[in-house]
Amino acid sequence: MEKTDIKSLTREELRKEVCEMGEKSFRADQIYDWIHVKLVRGFDEMTNISRSFREECKERFSFTDLKEVRVQESKIDKTRKFLFQLEDGNLVESVLMPYKHGNSVCISSQVGCRMGCAFCASTLDGLTRNLKPSEMLDQIYRITKITGERVSNVVVMGTGEPLDNYDNLIRFITLLTDEYGLHISQRNVTVSTCGIVPGILKLAKEKLQITLALSLHAVTDEKRRKLMPIAKTYSIGELMDAADVYFQETGRRITFEYSLVAGVNDTYEDVKGLAELSGKRNCHINLIPVNPIKERNFRQPDKEYVASFKNP
Ligand code: SF4
Repeated sequence: MEKTDIKSLTREELRKEVCEMGEKSFRADQIYDWIHVKLVRGFDEMTNISRSFREECKERFSFTDLKEVRVQESKIDKTRKFLFQLEDGNLVESVLMPYKHGNSVCISSQVGCRMGCAFCASTLDGLTRNLKPSEMLDQIYRITKITGERVSNVVVMGTGEPLDNYDNLIRFITLLTDEYGLHISQRNVTVSTCGIVPGILKLAKEKLQITLALSLHAVTDEKRRKLMPIAKTYSIGELMDAADVYFQETGRRITFEYSLVAGVNDTYEDVKGLAELSGKRNCHINLIPVNPIKERNFRQPDKEYVASFKNP
């Protein structure tokens, strides 16, 4: 029988499991605290749990953990990029960005991605698999342990399309923001999507206080279809309607992500279109010069040009 992934269980679910094993529910609360507050990496570190019960737990539950493969630190801004290995050997990347207001961690939600955005290296080999809620938590838990500092903001913007792994994403957010866990404020969690409209509408209904970031990257359907295959399924009009529903349901401002690609989406017409779309709604715009990838022939516009795009 497949073991239950203990780190992906809510506190209530863990209580139920532990009671089924003949223990009192406070034992579950102790275990939950070891996992989600003390951030231990296995049952043997749970020193107030009897050895015999720890052995029973090992029989019944799996306990995910990450192996640190590589860390690269930027000399410019102290950003650290972590390459972690999952238990099945797959690799995921997470990024720690220290800011004055606290540490922000960008996590991956899938191994690979099937969305096929033209400017993105993560999608070149397609989707390998979804990450479990525990594996998304692990990225934050390991970085917290490694740095010894609290993570205050979490951005689900690494490899993967979070809304393509919807149920695991919601469970991850529930556990991450649980008052008996790390208790990160929902307002400090951002989920970035390439624009899966039914996923956005479903997320709006959850009425979470998280920030939704929409990868726009073009303001006409024609251009957007060239950059992002998802735009062949959902038009910009449908995407904007979904963004408006998200705002109405949650009261949270949307962030539009716009990767500037030289000669592709950085013309005066593009600025005008972006100003029109954003002027009508309560939103932020995040302009990012595209990350050049060797497999695709995309270049960043030069710095002066990016500045002029921001203030045309
Ligand atoms: S959805 Fe994100 S990870 Fe996936 S291909 Fe697009 S940009 Fe890359």
